Amino acid sequence: MSLPFAFALHGGAGTIAPTHPQAEAPYHEALRAATARALAVLAADGSSLDAVVEAVAALEDCPLFNAGHGAVFCADGGHELDAGVMDGRTLAAGGVAGVRTVRNPVRAALELMYEGRCVLMGADAAERLAAERGLDIVEPGYFSTAHRLAQLREVQARRGGLAALDHDREPEDADSPHRFGTVGAVARDRHGHLAAATSTGGMTNKPPGRIGDSPIVGAGVYANDATCAVSCTGTGEHFIRACLGHDVHARMRYGQQGTFLAAHEALAQTLGPLGGRGGMVVVGRDGQIAMPFNSRGMYRAWVREGDDVRTAIFA
Ligand code: ASP
Repeated sequence: MSLPFAFALHGGAGTIAPTHPQAEAPYHEALRAATARALAVLAADGSSLDAVVEAVAALEDCPLFNAGHGAVFCADGGHELDAGVMDGRTLAAGGVAGVRTVRNPVRAALELMYEGRCVLMGADAAERLAAERGLDIVEPGYFSTAHRLAQLREVQARRGGLAALDHDREPEDADSPHRFGTVGAVARDRHGHLAAATSTGGMTNKPPGRIGDSPIVGAGVYANDATCAVSCTGTGEHFIRACLGHDVHARMRYGQQGTFLAAHEALAQTLGPLGGRGGMVVVGRDGQIAMPFNSRGMYRAWVREGDDVRTAIFA
């Protein structure tokens, strides 16, 4: 079987305000560079799983986004990273939570999935697995950037003990050029197989030990060849309670909805009433792409085989 591949990724959602094209250019470039990594896999007849992992690893290495290098800080001044992957062909999945020394948490999630003994693994054990598998291990300070530290101080001064969604800014600094976010990707390969991956530093000022939606199957990451692949970004607690990734799948599977309607209605009807904010990228088994969000913006890129790569931040 050879179908046209389809791919979409996000770099987070939030109350991003338009600035000037010059300030936005690096984000568009980074999204394109990560997409190119996925396209290299997909155009060589590679798997959707490899494509989403390569794209997410590229964004983890980029300090512009809240994953890997450049991740947000926890309340105690450390970083705890979460990542998840899911293979729509087999429904195999892997998620790591609270890792502090793995350069590319998405690769650790993939190793856990391949190992096949469990689906979710926390902190120390996940770090040991990553080291055993030969993944890059770094000092915790590798993830820190000066801007992120300033962001932590600002959130602590403004919100005390509350955590903040990475892209969110108060109105007075809504035009801050420093906007970053959780990253994720979905793909359908030429064989019709779907996959999803999501990676994050979580929310600024989050309590140590807090685990968000990103590594959780059916919440921030989901893939099933029967329906769709989904990667989410936003207020993680709401996405977990909404089982949002699975909600999109269920609308398609049991409600016979198409990709676009399922994604948009899941956001509006399931996440919205809980007070959740954010968005998601979805690719359907038919290759359709949907990228709904209920925040002001969501960094995103998408391409279907034969078309040009496109990137966008606002609606
Ligand atoms: N969903 C992520 C979390 O709650 C945050 C984000 O998407 O920016 O950990």
